[in-house]
Amino acid sequence: MQDKELYQQILGLISPWSVSDVELDHGESEIRVKVGHPRGVKFCCPDCEAQLPCHDHTEERRWRHLDSCQFKTILIARIPRVKCPTHGVKNANVPWAEKHSRFTIMFERFAIDVLLATQTVKGAMSILDTKWDQTWNIIERAVRRGKQRKEASMMPRIGIDEKAFKKGHSYITLLYDLDNSTVEAISEGNDADAAKACLSELSDAQIEAVEAIAMDMSAAYVKATKETIPLAENKIVHDRFHVMQLATKAVDKVRRGEHKKLKSEGDDRLTHSRYVWLKSQENLTENQRVLFDEIYTQQLETGKAWAYKEMLRDLWHHADSASATTYFNDWYKRVIHTNLEPMKTVARSIKERLANVVSYCTHRITNAVAEGINSKIMSIKRRVGGFRNVENFKTAIFFYCGGLDLYPR
Ligand SMILES: [Zn+2]
Repeated sequence: MQDKELYQQILGLISPWSVSDVELDHGESEIRVKVGHPRGVKFCCPDCEAQLPCHDHTEERRWRHLDSCQFKTILIARIPRVKCPTHGVKNANVPWAEKHSRFTIMFERFAIDVLLATQTVKGAMSILDTKWDQTWNIIERAVRRGKQRKEASMMPRIGIDEKAFKKGHSYITLLYDLDNSTVEAISEGNDADAAKACLSELSDAQIEAVEAIAMDMSAAYVKATKETIPLAENKIVHDRFHVMQLATKAVDKVRRGEHKKLKSEGDDRLTHSRYVWLKSQENLTENQRVLFDEIYTQQLETGKAWAYKEMLRDLWHHADSASATTYFNDWYKRVIHTNLEPMKTVARSIKERLANVVSYCTHRITNAVAEGINSKIMSIKRRVGGFRNVENFKTAIFFYCGGLDLYPR
């Protein structure tokens, strides 16, 4: 088999296109495959599909194709142009690549697979031997493509959550489809407007179809949801992990205060005990467990706060919201009569939003269902690195977590 014939077949070129020349450049480690078409062939206007004679050609263009063994393989052609009576002079579409792409469709498909598998742009770049801008361009095009194809499906269970974009106070708000674990919308900031911007991307039918919505206890998200989703009061479920986090932080606050007080009296019993109170019991190391048992029996404030926090964990194990409410009210009464100020603050804020805390027992949703998404986003932040702006971060999240059909066809 001749080299031209070989490439004709492995490129899968279809009429009128054929390989006119194959050149091997050892110095550049490159195989250049020139592709052309016979005279007199008609091409379609890309806008209206009208069959038109070839008007002229563009300059030679290059498309990176899948490598041939260790050689980069470049497809070279001049794109035929047609002169459409309606649309003017236009480049005809070529079957091996999408418009404006410097890569063949097969290469782009492969690049997307590599990016998804490595989960890092830099890792993919070294496998693909592409530059940052080229690789990023493949990601952007894939996301644009996926979003155009995406159809508005109903999402009965959604979540709204904030993520820090940079250190400091730069946040984005994410809207999840909890059943499919996908990110459906992203907006900048973490206030009511940010939540509204996300919700506004849903169609009226999608808004109507929402049955439950998970979120932290932020007043801003509650407000935006109430203003957007009908009967939101019955649908909001405050994320139980977020509530537990507040309780855990309160325990830590109690410990800090007590430690300071004890230390001033020369008592260092709470030194190095911080994580003993923060970690779940089952995750304690042997040494931490010994330390915990030692301090817990000494009736310190920190131990009491910890015990109340542990009691609160049982709130979510109730079969329905009525019995959870009874359980909470009992817990509340006990906590509020202590002098554990940070715990009391948490107790009050839960009480204020109680209906939407115990609604977990009805809807059974949390934003941690999207835990997979969260860890992906964290790893995007860590490993993709070098986001010049929030737009790039958003694009990367949609690429990895958007559940989009990314591939060119
Ligand atoms: Zn036309």
